[in-house]
Amino acid sequence: MHCPFCRHTDSRVVDSRATDDGQSIRRRRQCPDCGRRFTTVETAALAVMKRSGVTEPFSRAKIVAGVRKACQGRPVAEDELALLAQRVEEQLRSNGSAEIEAHEVGMAILGPLRELDEVAYLRFASVYQAFDNLEDFESAITLLRAERDATGREPDDQQGQQQDKSKSGMPRGS
Ligand SMILES: [Zn+2]
Repeated sequence: MHCPFCRHTDSRVVDSRATDDGQSIRRRRQCPDCGRRFTTVETAALAVMKRSGVTEPFSRAKIVAGVRKACQGRPVAEDELALLAQRVEEQLRSNGSAEIEAHEVGMAILGPLRELDEVAYLRFASVYQAFDNLEDFESAITLLRAERDATGREPDDQQGQQQDKSKSGMPRGS
């Protein structure tokens, strides 16, 4: 790396340490020519390109803020939001590219959010996918139902069935 002061084409690493969260490494460098010191930060690149063409670093905090809005009044804990943002980041990084488009971020949020809370999912999808009439909601709900049926009944439903059986086994009336 070039020295930012004298543009010398080389620099020497004098110290190197990971940040507390393990997300990046800070290196203290010294220019062998002018002797001045500077710091570089190394992180795994992940930039989001917005529709305007502007790129910004991927931010879990932004994911959490966006999803938190959709989760207002829903039984979703703060640590569940943090976990969702982590899953989104892992999925986006797994593609291996250093730059992704903003709509890919939205797409990556939809799956984990649906598992977390279906109402929040619908709210988020309605904004993200620009629902503008009841039919859009209807088809999204139909899709949710179809996928829920495809993944099988929930444990709660099975319990309900057993309760129904025991009820039907009991003599009716008196
Ligand atoms: Zn220098």
